[in-house]
Amino acid sequence: MKKFWLFSLFAALFIGLGLPTSQAFASSNFSDIGDTYRAKDEIYYLVEGGIANGISTTAFSPSTEVTRGQAAAMLGRALGLNGEKRKTSFNDVSENYFASGYIEQLVKRGIISGYPNGYFLPNKTLSRGEMAILINRSFGTGTNSVAVATSTLMQKGIANGYEDGTFGEQDTIIRADFSVFLARSINAKFRTADTETFSQIMYVNVNDLNFRTGPNTNYPSMGKYNFGQVVEYAYSIGDWAYVRVNGEKGFVHTAYLQTTVPDPNNPPVITPPEPAPILPKKLEDMVIILDPGHGDHDPGATGFGLKEKDMVLDVGKRVKNYFVQSPLQVKMTRETDVFVELRDRVAFAKRNDGHLFVSIHANALNGSANGTETFYYTAARNPYDVESKALAKYLQARMLEAWNLKDRGVKYGNYYVIRENAMPAALVEMGFIDNKTDNAYIASPSRREQMAKAIYLGTLDYLYHYEKREDVLPLYKSVNASSSPKRH
Ligand SMILES: [Zn+2]
Repeated sequence: MKKFWLFSLFAALFIGLGLPTSQAFASSNFSDIGDTYRAKDEIYYLVEGGIANGISTTAFSPSTEVTRGQAAAMLGRALGLNGEKRKTSFNDVSENYFASGYIEQLVKRGIISGYPNGYFLPNKTLSRGEMAILINRSFGTGTNSVAVATSTLMQKGIANGYEDGTFGEQDTIIRADFSVFLARSINAKFRTADTETFSQIMYVNVNDLNFRTGPNTNYPSMGKYNFGQVVEYAYSIGDWAYVRVNGEKGFVHTAYLQTTVPDPNNPPVITPPEPAPILPKKLEDMVIILDPGHGDHDPGATGFGLKEKDMVLDVGKRVKNYFVQSPLQVKMTRETDVFVELRDRVAFAKRNDGHLFVSIHANALNGSANGTETFYYTAARNPYDVESKALAKYLQARMLEAWNLKDRGVKYGNYYVIRENAMPAALVEMGFIDNKTDNAYIASPSRREQMAKAIYLGTLDYLYHYEKREDVLPLYKSVNASSSPKRH
């Protein structure tokens, strides 16, 4: 098979012509990345943002093959994930491995996966086909098809095929080429054809917002925008948006963009996104926040003489009782019939260094609907999108097990207390208070006790399966239960 990589042609030509090689650069200067090196701009762009590193301060080693561990680290950094080293679920990735944190985060997000029997093979070289899949899952729509992934990359001007029309998906990829593909994925200006459309209008909702050359704060600011500035949005890289303002293209943080015109008289309360902390080593240091909805003059939903505010408070207190008997700490946003503003519920959770947040509600819809559902929020505001969704899944399954009402599913919900939070957060709707069947469950103290236990167990399931906390196992036993199947 005739294989031909277009860039290799340029490289060969330049080297062949004996063009000058090295010149001093302000930041990094790798002796093996000369002035005319084909991937020079892309490599230095990634190095500037801390996304790629040299193998030493003076060498990048562009022709070395990329390993799965290295690819995970670069993708993780590009996405702004927390790369702090940690225990992983793989036999061959130790806690001390440089990319252990990124591998674990990417696996949780379904971007990269391991091999059977608990192996990740971090030192295995990456193929061009695998690279295409990883880039698609990280920055585009996730696909498991190499054909779809490679054609998407070629279409977007991110990767070229060989001259004979093939992609060479079995071939290994070297650091220079991986850098080129990654830089092009992040910043469309590097692509062979800049076909990105800026199809969505958004508004800046803060003053002095930095307009940067790349998707993290290592990249220099090209200017600042103020409250109300209109931007044209193209795509996101992690929590950063690639936008166009007056013809100039660059990155702003998505926490400071909104789709509606912001009201200067009522600016949104913005809490800067916080990096994802790792759960404490000891269960004793873990804080669960329970948030019974409504209160006082806000009854929430009503039906058959019951008020949501009373029922969810009762369930909340019962959940608390379970946690009180465990080593975990538990805090409630309200323990009496008082009204608490939504923003104060979130502030309470953050002030108390909460690690998980569960908001408890009941529903109503003119008696016309019934069932149990759980909401999570997934977008830049709450950095724990994947975690929140997993938490919601484990809660929903336990609630269905307890009451066996109609399964309305695990859904995205744009609710303040889960959106503005800075920890994995879910909002449960136990059932419909204005539906006769559901109401009978909500009205029954013994049923509410079952629901409380379900919320407790759902939280343990999340900690056990998602966070791999084996230390919660004894807690199941003490309430005559066992762990759920893995659901995320
Ligand atoms: Zn409610």
